[in-house]
Amino acid sequence: MGSGDYYDILGVPRSADEKEIQKAYRNLARKYHPDVCKDPGAEEKFKSINEAYSVLSDAQKRAQYDNMGHETYTNASKGSYTGGGGYGSGGFSSDFSGFGDIFDFFGGNQRRSGPQPGPDLLMRMQLTLEEAVAGADKEIEVLHSEACPACAGSGSETKKTNVCPRCGGSGQMRQTAQSVFGQFVRMTPCTMCGGRGKIPEKQCHSCHGTGHTRVKRKVSVHIPAGVDSGMRLRMEGYGEAGDYGAQNGDLFIEMYVLPHKRFERTGDNLETTVEITPALAVLGTTIEIETIDKRHLDLKIPAGIQYSTALRIGGEGVKRRGKPGDLLVRVKIVTPRGISGEQKELYQKIADLEGHASKTGGIFSGIMGKKKGKR
Ligand SMILES: [Zn+2]
Ligand SMILES: [Zn+2]
Repeated sequence: MGSGDYYDILGVPRSADEKEIQKAYRNLARKYHPDVCKDPGAEEKFKSINEAYSVLSDAQKRAQYDNMGHETYTNASKGSYTGGGGYGSGGFSSDFSGFGDIFDFFGGNQRRSGPQPGPDLLMRMQLTLEEAVAGADKEIEVLHSEACPACAGSGSETKKTNVCPRCGGSGQMRQTAQSVFGQFVRMTPCTMCGGRGKIPEKQCHSCHGTGHTRVKRKVSVHIPAGVDSGMRLRMEGYGEAGDYGAQNGDLFIEMYVLPHKRFERTGDNLETTVEITPALAVLGTTIEIETIDKRHLDLKIPAGIQYSTALRIGGEGVKRRGKPGDLLVRVKIVTPRGISGEQKELYQKIADLEGHASKTGGIFSGIMGKKKGKR
């Protein structure tokens, strides 16, 4: 269902404007509407046409689709665990109602007969970088609908339901409609049973026959190591309750990783900064680095290191899918201020030597200019 590029489905070029897309959609929708077309596979085809149109007709969704490509986009909108980056926390607001219900072109709601599955829910979750790197177990509170405990979700005090007398259990009512393409039958959800096809034998007093009740529930969530902002976890069945006998919707949890004081993340690498004095930069040294999981490592800084050089510690980055990233340690050389008498003398001595070196064409000759280093 819905496989293949959306542009191909509608048969339009990638450069197509809104009008072309709408025109292509209308033509195809007329041709494959299940009330009109009885070919096998017409319904599937009709669904993918609608899916394609719902994305390409919306400027924002279309831009995301073009950006992410078909695979990534459709996976993300299904909410599976997808690679983040790029779209980050930037409002990737796909509607989660499923594409099947969007179609409204013929004025009717394209609703399937029988019990309806529950809608999906979307939540945002804030994580520290430590949690994102190492993974975490968290408890969240979710306000959602569940099956009414008094009637076990049936909506009926006796837990028994009767076949709806108005629609005969199909959940749909037929209306014959006249349109420019001729006469066809339009299906609308039954007004008596709301499309369920069944009505409670005796309406439940606690849910008034809906079969649902709103509750706040604690849900434990396992966040795998390596998640990044914009990724979504899917908790199957933790969304809203469906109709009696139908599945619940899913809960999607979108990650937002907070900025960190010491570490910055780029892909699977982490970056941090250390400060050393000019003397240590010249001579080289070994310093202690604290990793994101609070281990201490020795890092050798080679003699003659230049300002802002990044030293790489392999495997100390984000450990995602087996292959860890690296830790990059950027070395900043900080010039000391207000130095003591002896230090000052020594620096003066170095400066004198450098001045001497400049006369004989040393490395600073170009930078320092003629004799300006010496007073
Ligand atoms: Zn009915
Ligand atoms: Zn009830």
